[in-house]
Amino acid sequence: MERQKEFVLRTLEERDIRFVRLWFTDVLGTLKSVSVAPAELESAFEEGIGFDGSAIEGFARVYESDMVAMPDPTTFQVFPFEGRGIGESARMFCDILTPEGAPSWADPRHVLRRALSKAADRGFTFYVHPEIEFFLLSDIDPEGRTKPTPVDDGGYFDHTTHSTARDFRRQAILALERVGISVEFSHHEVAPGQQEIDLRYADALTTADNIMTFRHIVKEVALTSGVTASFMPKPYTAQPGSGMHSHLSLFEGEDNAFHDPGDEQRLSKTAKAFIAGLLRHAPEFTAITNQWVNSYKRLFTSAQPGQISEAPSYVSWGKANRSALVRVPAYGKPNSARVEIRSLDSATNPYLAYAVLLGAGLKGIEEGYELAPGTEDDVSALTNAERVAAGYQPLPANLSEALDAMESSDLVPEVLGEHVFDYFLKNKRQEWEDYRTQVTAFERKRYMHL
Ligand code: GLN
Ligand code: MG
Ligand code: MG
Ligand code: MG
Repeated sequence: MERQKEFVLRTLEERDIRFVRLWFTDVLGTLKSVSVAPAELESAFEEGIGFDGSAIEGFARVYESDMVAMPDPTTFQVFPFEGRGIGESARMFCDILTPEGAPSWADPRHVLRRALSKAADRGFTFYVHPEIEFFLLSDIDPEGRTKPTPVDDGGYFDHTTHSTARDFRRQAILALERVGISVEFSHHEVAPGQQEIDLRYADALTTADNIMTFRHIVKEVALTSGVTASFMPKPYTAQPGSGMHSHLSLFEGEDNAFHDPGDEQRLSKTAKAFIAGLLRHAPEFTAITNQWVNSYKRLFTSAQPGQISEAPSYVSWGKANRSALVRVPAYGKPNSARVEIRSLDSATNPYLAYAVLLGAGLKGIEEGYELAPGTEDDVSALTNAERVAAGYQPLPANLSEALDAMESSDLVPEVLGEHVFDYFLKNKRQEWEDYRTQVTAFERKRYMHL
């Protein structure tokens, strides 16, 4: 740690960096940033930077509003492309502390750190590889005066010659790699204007930090190309939404704890119990992995009637099955054994999401949950009666149902801590209420002339 602090201070001086941004994330997953002059950094490493927590979503009640952002020197990155003639800038993620120096329970990074240390007590490290989908749009106007338009009419894996999308992906990937984020794959997704960029796996805390950085960089690169990047879960009724499939694995030292060469499916007991934990607790944690009113339109509206939706609506698992909530990718190298969870969307708070997923999986391991056989059924194409007969539970149908399931959970408050749990429920109940009480264009069109 001391060495890293010295490295940061030396780099700032050598590269003549004038702005250091300190980043943290609020409970709803919004990036927060405060700039400090390099001269202040030495004391910031000692004492942190004070701020008014009551002004940040989910951070504090007013009578305990003083909070401290403590920069984490292991996350230091120079942002070479952001200078635009005013010199380079740099950033670090922060941990949030109380004035007494204790980790703040309102800090999503702390929520994830705590879940990871629980896994570490059992000898596990938790790795995540996210596939991030988003739309590139032009003419965006939230007031609805103009229509946000996809920048191209490409589809899945289309190679679009000299398109905005292709140039954009190249720029974005170069920018990501310059800040130390490795990209594994990128391609055009199914919907017009829709892109996917997959990050190389890393421990869950690094991945969550990387996702926050990714959103920032992708939006910046889009702006410089005159377009907008949107991580909204389901922008268009008749097109698929943007998911953030995440591949999860547990390691014990150098070994992948999900791999068992002796098993027919090459899945260890640990992996099976982990999957069973994800499945059993899925309804309870869906409010976290799919936190917006709009998230449920992605899960429950297939793009075209009769077309399979590649977003899960039911709790099931399988191998090649793309309607499943959890998929086990085809067998590769032993160390690449992993499970893919497909419900998360691109607008989740990654710290909280990975904390609840890990919590659910560990619960399965601790309690030795049994994993029922997987299925290759397209669960969304079955009739209701067939689904009931086969025992497939639906995911919560909307934010309100998801909050009910979360409220009755023992696991979720344990993972999030009471503070985040209570704040989240209260904030999201209000979001649902704001939505529920709207009279919409749909209603005026249908009912005005009754
Ligand atoms: N866009 C789909 C979703 O919402 C996923 C498509 C895919 O990657 N197979 O989850
Ligand atoms: Mg993919
Ligand atoms: Mg995809
Ligand atoms: Mg996938």
